[in-house]
Amino acid sequence: MALIVQKFGGTSVGSIERIRKVAQIVRETWESGHRLVVVVSAMSGETDRLLRLAYELSAEPHEREMDMLLSSGERVTSALLAIVLNEMKIPAQSMTGRQVGIKTDSVHTKARIASISSERLTETLQKGIIPIVAGFQGISAEENVTTLGRGGSDTTAVALAVAVKADRCDIYTDVLGVYTADPNLVPSARKLDQISYEEMLEMASLGAKVLQTRSVEFAMKYKMPVRVRSTFSTDPGTLVTEEEKRMEHIVVSGITLDKNQAKITVQDVPDKPGLAARLFETISSQSIVVDMIVQNVGQDGLTDISYTVPRSDARKAERLAAQIASEIGAGEIKIKEDIVKISIIGVGMRSHSGVAARMFSTLAREGINILMISTSEIKISCLIDEKYSELSVRALHEEFQPETRGTLHEG
Ligand code: ADP
Ligand code: ASP
Ligand code: MG
Repeated sequence: MALIVQKFGGTSVGSIERIRKVAQIVRETWESGHRLVVVVSAMSGETDRLLRLAYELSAEPHEREMDMLLSSGERVTSALLAIVLNEMKIPAQSMTGRQVGIKTDSVHTKARIASISSERLTETLQKGIIPIVAGFQGISAEENVTTLGRGGSDTTAVALAVAVKADRCDIYTDVLGVYTADPNLVPSARKLDQISYEEMLEMASLGAKVLQTRSVEFAMKYKMPVRVRSTFSTDPGTLVTEEEKRMEHIVVSGITLDKNQAKITVQDVPDKPGLAARLFETISSQSIVVDMIVQNVGQDGLTDISYTVPRSDARKAERLAAQIASEIGAGEIKIKEDIVKISIIGVGMRSHSGVAARMFSTLAREGINILMISTSEIKISCLIDEKYSELSVRALHEEFQPETRGTLHEG
């Protein structure tokens, strides 16, 4: 008998029919003798609908009120699922983030979990009742409702799995598992049977939204096995787990595309020590995350500095750059928003050389210009024009796919 956390995403609870289907899965797990905690997302499209309502009333709604509003979607599905389970004579009780003791910091709309007091959840389990938890939400020290950022129900699920010491966490979604690239973008993408925490973390943070980055961080830190699988199939899905020796044969495990990118260039920065530090200190003090940075070779004592920020922060970042530029006597600010970041990820890159060259020549063959590059031990990212989004993912998938084929199922 295992203790399992099951999380069902938006599409999986997208209609009354689908909520019934989810109830069947919960019933089967329960009837086979396992104990379980269920976490649900809002019905698909609901969080976006609530966002639109708020923006109809205000261009900059207070973030505290946004959290109150957005957290309601998950409460609806948790109650509906509990209602149908009770109808099936299965003891279940809906619970909010606060009721399951999820305490967060006070950064509204992108709060981070600070601690979980799981006594009530444990008591509920001991009574033989299945807790149906509203995902994506918690409570701040000031007792305000907070939400965990888009896709945050994944993080609720993994964090609760860690808190109740579950045997594993199953993430039920609308695809069969984690693929070599977004299967909705690359029809030839292949499902991975297994992926390491490290690679999954890179894939999530570089744009694969199948798991929220924070949920993978929790899983990796506490070594919680996570299985990504489909609500609509019995396929075993993808196991996210510790790296195995055999995984090193696979050079590239995944290709991701991140569209939340903007590039800012500060022209004619005086080539003197301390100016770059001043620019980036100001940006980070405003909680804007700078990703890639390139400084051109200086000419006549002047240099250009380009960097990328999330597109959602682009306007704010542009304002800050203009302010610093005038203080330090730099030139014009240029901003480019029609760009994307394409990345290839794989632990096998540690032991295989020449992967970067293959990536660059594949892009060159398609006539795709690289604007910026960044690398780590297990990933290479290139910034390119947005119009090449699909072409680049497909071309790189074609180039590297043979490496995954055949070695993937090695024993
Ligand atoms: P849920 O509502 O269940 O949380 P999401 O929409 O958040 O589902 O995440 C699932 C989606 O992630 C898939 O429909 C797919 O389009 C997208 N996705 C992006 N990259 C990948 C990948 N490498 N493998 C699987 N799915 C991916
Ligand atoms: N409903 C939230 C969202 O759409 C959280 C989630 O689904 O995980 O982002
Ligand atoms: Mg999701």
